Amino acid sequence: HLMDAPSSPNSLPIPSILNTMTRKREPLRTLQPGKVSLYSCGPTVWNYIHIGNLRAALTSDLFFRYFRKLGYDVTYVRNYTDVDDKIIQQAAKEGVAPDQLSRKYTQEVERDYALAGMLEPTHKTKVTEHIPEIIALIENILKNGKAYVAKDGEVFFSIDAFPTYGKLSGKKLEDLDAGVRVEVRDGKKNPLDFSLWKPAKPGEPFWESPWGKGRPGWHIECSAMAMKWLGPKMDIHHGGEDLVFPHHENEIAQSEAGSGVAPYVGCWVHNGFLTMNKEKMSKSLGNIVSARDFLSEYGGEVTRYMLLSVHYRALLDFGDDSLETALSSLQRLYEAKQKAQALTKLRAAMPDQRAEASWGQFLAEAEAARREIRAAFAQDLNTSGALGALFKLIREFNRNLAEPHGSGTPGAILGATELLSVLESEIGDVMGVGRLAPEKALQDFDGIRERRAKRAGGERLSAEEIEALVKARLAARQAKDFKESDRIRDELAAKGVVIKDGPQGTHWEYR
Ligand code: AMP
Ligand code: ZN
Repeated sequence: HLMDAPSSPNSLPIPSILNTMTRKREPLRTLQPGKVSLYSCGPTVWNYIHIGNLRAALTSDLFFRYFRKLGYDVTYVRNYTDVDDKIIQQAAKEGVAPDQLSRKYTQEVERDYALAGMLEPTHKTKVTEHIPEIIALIENILKNGKAYVAKDGEVFFSIDAFPTYGKLSGKKLEDLDAGVRVEVRDGKKNPLDFSLWKPAKPGEPFWESPWGKGRPGWHIECSAMAMKWLGPKMDIHHGGEDLVFPHHENEIAQSEAGSGVAPYVGCWVHNGFLTMNKEKMSKSLGNIVSARDFLSEYGGEVTRYMLLSVHYRALLDFGDDSLETALSSLQRLYEAKQKAQALTKLRAAMPDQRAEASWGQFLAEAEAARREIRAAFAQDLNTSGALGALFKLIREFNRNLAEPHGSGTPGAILGATELLSVLESEIGDVMGVGRLAPEKALQDFDGIRERRAKRAGGERLSAEEIEALVKARLAARQAKDFKESDRIRDELAAKGVVIKDGPQGTHWEYR
């Protein structure tokens, strides 16, 4: 029955969200009517973030905006991991104190987030500001018999005391056991037991605790911060898919073992990886594009569009294609916006606002697009489906404008008003794109294209030029002028050409 169809506080369709725990799309059911609690695992602030990290951050921003759009009162918590091994190592490298380093990169990340047009969360939490909560949680876990203290003061979570361990990731304890190399570190009862509290090593930051000087293990922080600000149960918990195991598996174990309340999380949300040549972008692999470089070169709008136009769970392989698609889509979007805005400016001069037949049809299509976009978002934030409906409407708009008497009529003005409303309130409110002044946006996109063309033109060598350089290098090598032959090899490398010397001679290829 229609009257019974559940709807959000704003009478929009209730969304279904894919829950990693059940592997099913489930209609959103919140703990408190009209309210959503959302926790997102934020970055470890030891360096600049890369655009894969930014994809994760934008995913939680997307959920936040969407729940607000649906009329929920959202409490959104995002953390900064500001104490960890990488921070300590990097601080030593840069010759600064760890807290100084993490403060610096927290600021840099905030700058990237602002450039990417992200909204401020309700609470931004730092691990170092939650040490008492972390200690209290560990004490509860110990009291409930799900953790133990090893000789040196390290506190371990006891996997064997938590029978549902592995539920989120679908891993079975037996399989995990077999896969794990038994750690040499003594004190662990089960090699899978993980650290809740680590004893301090000389020269490292530490806090006083019932188990001596030390610092929290990585996983406990999110349990403590999430439960402090959202309570022992929350509606949505988000992170990148690399966090499913072990981070989120451990979070569930710690939280439920500490609070005695389950389930810790109603719906687990994980974004897919951003990859480059199908390899996960990560600092340890070195295949990264920093968010700062990317945002400076392409701006927040293109960045958001590129990272959000693909479904958040899908793998996003980053490259020229994804950039080009974002750029040309945005160009189409803003050209339509420019025309529509110009038309609506005529409104005052044309008080008779009745739609001609063709525009009447367009108004019906705009209504259909509105419904389609809402339905797409309601299906696990299907952003590409929503954008598809928008671009279908833009095509219809352009088609109508191209008809004789299609432009400058009262019907066209109504149509333009509708298109702008769909763009602004259906797409813009949720995805945070399409809201710039079109003149400026189009100019920026032209600038991006010019710079790209220039760079590509300047970089590409013709095959003849490459062969000539390869020959010159060979000659230099035969004359034992290795300085010159290396210089030529570097010149080629700078232009993207790699050379390989083999038994059959020298081969070259574009990287
Ligand atoms: P980290 O600083 O490594 O803890 O990462 C911060 C957030 O970025 C976490 O939610 C990660 O899951 C996420 N993340 C890291 N690398 C990628 C990637 N290549 N693609 C998508 N998300 C990522
Ligand atoms: Zn976390």
